[in-house]
Amino acid sequence: MSFDPIRSLSKVRHEFGEHGGVNMSIETSTTFTVLAAETMPEIFMGEKGPDQGGCFLYGRHFNPTVYVLGRYLAAIEGTESGYATSSGISAIACSVMQLCSPGDEIVASNAIYGGTFALFKEFFPIKAGITVRFVDISNLDEVKAAITDKTRAIYTESISNPTMVVADIPKLATIAHDAGAKLIVDNTFSPMLLSPAQLGADIVVHSMTKFMGGGSDIIAGAVCASKEFIMELMDLHTGAVMLLGPTMDPRVAFDLSLRLPHLGLRMQEHSRRAQFFAEKLESLGLDVLYPGLASHRHHALLSSLTNKGFGYGGLFALDLGTTDRAFAFMNDLQRNEGFGMLAVSLGYFDTLMSCSASSTSSELSEEELQEAGIAPGLVRVSLGYTGTLEDRWDQFERALKRVKLI
Ligand SMILES: *Cc1c(COP(=O)(O)O)cnc(C)c1O
Repeated sequence: MSFDPIRSLSKVRHEFGEHGGVNMSIETSTTFTVLAAETMPEIFMGEKGPDQGGCFLYGRHFNPTVYVLGRYLAAIEGTESGYATSSGISAIACSVMQLCSPGDEIVASNAIYGGTFALFKEFFPIKAGITVRFVDISNLDEVKAAITDKTRAIYTESISNPTMVVADIPKLATIAHDAGAKLIVDNTFSPMLLSPAQLGADIVVHSMTKFMGGGSDIIAGAVCASKEFIMELMDLHTGAVMLLGPTMDPRVAFDLSLRLPHLGLRMQEHSRRAQFFAEKLESLGLDVLYPGLASHRHHALLSSLTNKGFGYGGLFALDLGTTDRAFAFMNDLQRNEGFGMLAVSLGYFDTLMSCSASSTSSELSEEELQEAGIAPGLVRVSLGYTGTLEDRWDQFERALKRVKLI
């Protein structure tokens, strides 16, 4: 891929504060005045808006600060438009609901974040009449076979949680488009290093809570897509974001706007360290899943899709065989080395680790876990970048030795 998200972002980064500040100002108002009474009905009719004469209406609709963040997000993903939401799951739920009506179907990867899985498996069928057919997303024949004339979208994660399955985005886009459906890609695991929209995806969603935020302190989400789709989400009469209301606070949008300029650097360092750890672990004979390893089944595929210079991401999974061993190792690393925190989530500057089968993927049944390849002793590690790489590796190795895994 030749797309350069860092350059793309730097091109839109010239929103100055109202006093010429190098950072933009925060527009906290929840309501906006118009200079003439006649303008208000025009806004309600959709004839005036943020992109049509610069008119803002109400904070749950477009907010100028959140909209600037949306432009940053669109620049990073190389989409026409983007908007931020108050969580990743709301970005996902609203995108699917915008495309589907009761009776419609989506085809989704079976290896996805547990919350999304629950939303698709339990909530959508019961509450919205949307049927979700789960497939092994790397089996394109299975994907095709699951498509019906009611399919409105194919849904996948770019690199999936926690097994590091890589989606063949160009091929999935073709399958979706041939069926008159959209391809939605959750790019939470691989911002900067993968640009799904450049590869054919129609809608890119994010949990900004993870790498984009980077501080494990803000719950936030994003939708990047065509201007038409973003406007549909914000439509006063039929827009899922506007009417279900997962609005991002402008103070939060401002905070996040300061983190995106160094997202590229952070991703490079997460990847560099994860690559080092994965190679070391593999050389010690451990069972490690990392798409940067030549042994990973999707290494060649991911290599053909990534933007240059960002590596293969900050997460790897280590299969320690049993839940007991996984727990013993994580306890040791946290207690005796003070490295690695037992916590769900990912993309933090420090290292987070969890045993997926009994935590973030516990929404899946035993059979579903098996189908998705999530072994009971699988430890997911989101590698941070604090401390020196050498010290961190020594700590990790000592813990492995103490619990007799090497
Ligand atoms: C965390 C996560 C989500 C949900 O995002 P929230 O910000 O917690 O709502 C969705 N997809 C993936 C891949 C995630 O890791």
